Amino acid sequence: MLPVVALVGRPNVGKSTLFNVLTRTRDALVADQPGLTRDRHYGICRLGDSPFLVVDTGGLSGDDEGIDGLTAKQVELAIAEASIVVFMTDARAGLMALDRDILIDLRKRGKPLIVAVNKTDGLDETTSLADFAALGVATLVPLAASHGRGTDGLLEALEPHL
Ligand code: GDP
Ligand code: MG
Repeated sequence: MLPVVALVGRPNVGKSTLFNVLTRTRDALVADQPGLTRDRHYGICRLGDSPFLVVDTGGLSGDDEGIDGLTAKQVELAIAEASIVVFMTDARAGLMALDRDILIDLRKRGKPLIVAVNKTDGLDETTSLADFAALGVATLVPLAASHGRGTDGLLEALEPHL
């Protein structure tokens, strides 16, 4: 069984975009419309010669009812099998209440956790990271997934956990 990296976060932060960059496929459903990825979705990525699995998940909306409840179940399963969780956030939106709620939940799973701060394109990277430092997670990685930027730093942060 290959190590698994789970991409988790609010809808529309760029999880599917990052998945596509990491796996170099267009498989994941990338859309302007939030929350379209309802199922777990796997792809293979490489760190040097070592392959690992990336799992893209549907966004967590904080609503446990209906279809969002189903998505939350899928996310829970993805986290359960993950070696490490990449908690993805949106630098343009800034730190949101839902980010804090999701993090409280993630901490209960006891998995290694890093925060990827996406959409830093056109923003000051240091300022963007400082905003999310309030989450209290040791490793913050700046990304601009749609520009293919920051993935080297992300892979470096993942390496000790794979
Ligand atoms: P998901 O719901 O978390 O899977 O988010 P998506 O990957 O579907 O992306 C949501 C929207 O954000 C799309 O319009 C993407 O093009 C856009 N997006 C993703 N990454 C970036 C980025 O690094 N910078 C900017 N400006 N937009 C991004
Ligand atoms: Mg998606």
